[in-house]
Amino acid sequence: GLRSKSSLPDVREQTLIAVKPDGVHRRLVGQIMQRFEQRGFKLVGLKMLQVSEDLLAQHYCHLRTKPFYPSLQDYMTSGPVVAMVWEGHNVIQTSRIMVGHTNPAEAQAGTVRGDFSIHVSRNVVHASDSREGAEREIQLWFQGKELLNWESCDQTFTCEP
Ligand code: UDP
Repeated sequence: GLRSKSSLPDVREQTLIAVKPDGVHRRLVGQIMQRFEQRGFKLVGLKMLQVSEDLLAQHYCHLRTKPFYPSLQDYMTSGPVVAMVWEGHNVIQTSRIMVGHTNPAEAQAGTVRGDFSIHVSRNVVHASDSREGAEREIQLWFQGKELLNWESCDQTFTCEP
């Protein structure tokens, strides 16, 4: 089949996961990170930050003209965000499934949004939605030197290397 044009091999696929300000205020950071750890993904970048209006506008460039954008901006800049880069086989698609539907009312139980949220404007977490999106967002949120290249000791048991 068609292979990605990216230089990252499949097992090295990376995605941006961010715990939004409601998730930080509600002390959900640990539980959210635990889900990615226990699934078998590898943490390669992690930081807490105050998101600027400029970063948010670039991150959500596809939503800038939406009527809800001003309230989305207020929400996302209202407090700290915990941004992470997770790596592993098919991590982008699997993370979207783990995070659940954008609207928590449609998110399955067992997903982060389905377990921890009730309203689309306070849906706790962000996950990149495509290979292109993930690469763009990781570059936007992290400097290259903030991403660690390390081998996890259980790698051969979670995925063919
Ligand atoms: N959002 C919102 N109201 C809407 C749609 C989206 O407040 O009607 C917010 C919500 O926080 C969502 C974010 O905008 O997570 C980005 O929307 P997108 O459609 O990209 O969904 P996601 O990729 O986060 O599932």
